[in-house]
Amino acid sequence: MSYDDNNIFAKILRGEIPSHRVYEDDATIAFMDVMPQAEGHLLVVPKSPSRNLLDADAATLPALIATVQKLAVAAKEAFDADGVTIMQFNEAPAGQSVFHLHFHVIPRQAGVPLKP
Ligand code: ADP
Repeated sequence: MSYDDNNIFAKILRGEIPSHRVYEDDATIAFMDVMPQAEGHLLVVPKSPSRNLLDADAATLPALIATVQKLAVAAKEAFDADGVTIMQFNEAPAGQSVFHLHFHVIPRQAGVPLKP
């Protein structure tokens, strides 16, 4: 499968469409999900073009997972959460709808299910 740079996260990375950006470093950005499954749901994406984890350059992964961890800790604190769900989907049958690699970081409150 190939990378299509017209995907919505590529446009966010290029600044062509707006996002609520909460973090940026040399290799990654994070922004709030427009259809949050729980309060504080955010997305972490690499700046480099990967369709999903299956085709990602392994060299990009340490920075990406470090940002995921950093923002999971920060979001848990910021939203006074009891836990954090991390999700990542690869290809449409697995639930992927935007084809630029991303991790969902979702603060969780005890007893509160994710919104569908
Ligand atoms: P799914 O849509 O099944 O969760 P993905 O893992 O591909 O599959 O997630 C894409 C995510 O991107 C969704 O949670 C969706 O709400 C979010 N999203 C779509 N467009 C935007 C946007 N413009 N800004 C922020 N988040 C977006």
